[in-house]
Amino acid sequence: MSEINLGIIGGGQLGSMLTVAAKKLGIKTYIFCDDADAPAQNFCNEFIHGSYDDKEKINEFVNKVDVITYEFENIPYETLHELNRFKPVSPKPSVNRIIQHRLAEKDFVNKLNIRTTRYASIENKDDIMPLEDLLPGILKTTTMGYDGKGQYPIKNLEDFESLNIDFSKEYILEKLVKLKKEISVIITRFDKGKYEVYEPIENRHEDQILKHSKIPADISSKLLEQSKEWATLISEELKYIGTLCVEFFIDRNDNLYVNEIAPRVHNSGHLTINAYNVSQFENHIRAVCKLEQIPLKKLSNAEMINIIGDQIIPFRESPKLKDNQFFYDYLKKEIKQKRKMGHLTTLI
Ligand code: ADP
Ligand code: MG
Repeated sequence: MSEINLGIIGGGQLGSMLTVAAKKLGIKTYIFCDDADAPAQNFCNEFIHGSYDDKEKINEFVNKVDVITYEFENIPYETLHELNRFKPVSPKPSVNRIIQHRLAEKDFVNKLNIRTTRYASIENKDDIMPLEDLLPGILKTTTMGYDGKGQYPIKNLEDFESLNIDFSKEYILEKLVKLKKEISVIITRFDKGKYEVYEPIENRHEDQILKHSKIPADISSKLLEQSKEWATLISEELKYIGTLCVEFFIDRNDNLYVNEIAPRVHNSGHLTINAYNVSQFENHIRAVCKLEQIPLKKLSNAEMINIIGDQIIPFRESPKLKDNQFFYDYLKKEIKQKRKMGHLTTLI
């Protein structure tokens, strides 16, 4: 087969890991990113820096690649749509348009008869008044949120009054679920009816940021099957090509809810690098580049912790790893509070 040149939009840690997986398969990677310091430039074959509406830079990128994918969902739809006119973009831009908007995403999931939290659209201050039964809740920007950014917990109407919400943006109000657990299911879809599903991963968040993931998840076999079934249905319905993650809530009565869908590889799946024969990253590359589908085999149970902010310093100085531990430094130049700097996977 002739050499494949893969374009990846976004140059963070997910872009880096996609690049490493592609290299292993003999694929050349070109990263396009609006951040001059993007860590993926340390790993890719070529790095193109430009803003996501810079036509000239986009052209330069398009001319170099055969197929395009992306590491995060907040890329403007127009950019993906434009790129797709010249080279195939996977997953297709229309998928991204649904998922990057929290309301469209939840409407889509509910139409499949899959449970989500209860929610409503909030466009101005008065919209919340008749929605008291959605409180306590969380107000979220409909677009561009990640790691809890753009989210406001609201206990009661007074809380809402006292917050100075910027209504030039659109919001969704979600009823707070009394969480027992959070899990995620990662699935790579290759074609109609052809996919590889990883077993559910149990996740713990701190300050709305993922802190800890592990397999196996401590859940009933019913929830295990139901979460995999819903993730499969979602990916089939989207005619998705590549790796996708569905985040779930489990409430105190063992009800399962879809929290959100990530149309990309996912932080909770970092442990798949060491715990499976094929990682979520390699599977994504295999699907978007139309390479062979290899049956998944779990090699080990595992847990992963995210290394956030200055927790990276001791790891960088002297990681002191055991044989079953794998440390990943994202090589981000600046250490910032709440920024994911690396992770540590332990096979158990
Ligand atoms: P992000 O895009 O930042 O990942 P999420 O909607 O996944 O946004 O929210 C981040 C975390 O905040 C969730 O994983 C969960 O721990 C908590 N959270 C968000 N929405 C709710 C909710 N409706 N009920 C309970 N917890 C929530
Ligand atoms: Mg989330």
